[in-house]
Amino acid sequence: MKVAFTSDNIAGASDSVMAAIIAANQGDTMPYGNDDYTAQVTSMFAELFECDVDVFLVSTGTAANVLSLSAMTPPWGSVLCHSESHLLNDESSAPEFYTNGARLIGIEGADAKIDPIALKHSIHQKLGDVHSCQPSAVSISQVTEVGSLYSLGEIRAITDVAKSMNLPVHMDGARFANALVSLGCTPAEMTWKAGVDILSFGATKNGVMAAEAIVVFNKSLAKDLGFLRKRGGHLHSKMRLLASQMIAYLTDELWRINAEHANSMMALLQDGLKTVPGVTINTPAQANMLFCTLPTPMIEHLLAGGYAFYTGRWAEGVIRLVTSFRTPKEGVEAFIESARNFAEKNV
Ligand SMILES: *Cc1c(COP(=O)(O)O)cnc(C)c1O
Repeated sequence: MKVAFTSDNIAGASDSVMAAIIAANQGDTMPYGNDDYTAQVTSMFAELFECDVDVFLVSTGTAANVLSLSAMTPPWGSVLCHSESHLLNDESSAPEFYTNGARLIGIEGADAKIDPIALKHSIHQKLGDVHSCQPSAVSISQVTEVGSLYSLGEIRAITDVAKSMNLPVHMDGARFANALVSLGCTPAEMTWKAGVDILSFGATKNGVMAAEAIVVFNKSLAKDLGFLRKRGGHLHSKMRLLASQMIAYLTDELWRINAEHANSMMALLQDGLKTVPGVTINTPAQANMLFCTLPTPMIEHLLAGGYAFYTGRWAEGVIRLVTSFRTPKEGVEAFIESARNFAEKNV
């Protein structure tokens, strides 16, 4: 059985999500989020996060991220994020577009996690200097771009630096569920209790068709978001069809079940690959994404065998493997077996 580890967005949506869209499709409701489905999403998030929240549904993760930033920074500001972050490398110029030209500044740090000392240093550079962009927000990714996680203490270290300078903090949670089940904490602990002001709550990669939520914990940042979303062309008129996806995702812990499956498939994959001669784990996977280095002929063997994954985008031999809520166990086992067979004959 062949399997693809290209990304978690190569899978479709969970069956109950599709069923929820079909069910919500019946009858008429008021448009633009003035419907019971959308109201239910907000109350479900309030319960999940154990606090009062403002919720803005959008249909892409990029929109969730850049609209969040647009609520946090003036056009002359800068948003500090990791130099390898999705925001900085994979969202084209959407951040600049939506913030009217605010600048993203990449901060270094091991395992794609912002180093709080480097962050502090960057914030203090040219503070108050009219010739420089003024630091106005911080954004962290949980899961990170290399499959690592910030511990709760590491999130707190970042938000403490930001708070000491009155900067709001955004979390890019495109893989929020994968991070949460791995850390084993509550959604509140990984966000507002650790100092996060706005969250991009991803759902698409983990089982919905197209719905992401901007979850705002800091009420003062929610004030203009409705206007910003409309201006940015992301106020869906048939909002209930997005809301119904999120309701299904949050019902009966589908989000948790899906993420636990993806993470456990990654654990299996990583444990297996560790025992294959010639394979080096670059960054230990803490959720559902792994970077590792393989001998080039082994990569060619796996690709020729019908397995799919990204390679050639990084240093020679580096591949990225991502598991999803639908990755089959037999596929993971077969992949490891194929790598092992090759290694035993060739490495
Ligand atoms: C996938 C992803 C997003 C959202 O991407 P879209 O393609 O716009 O949905 C945002 N951040 C990270 C870290 C991602 O992996």
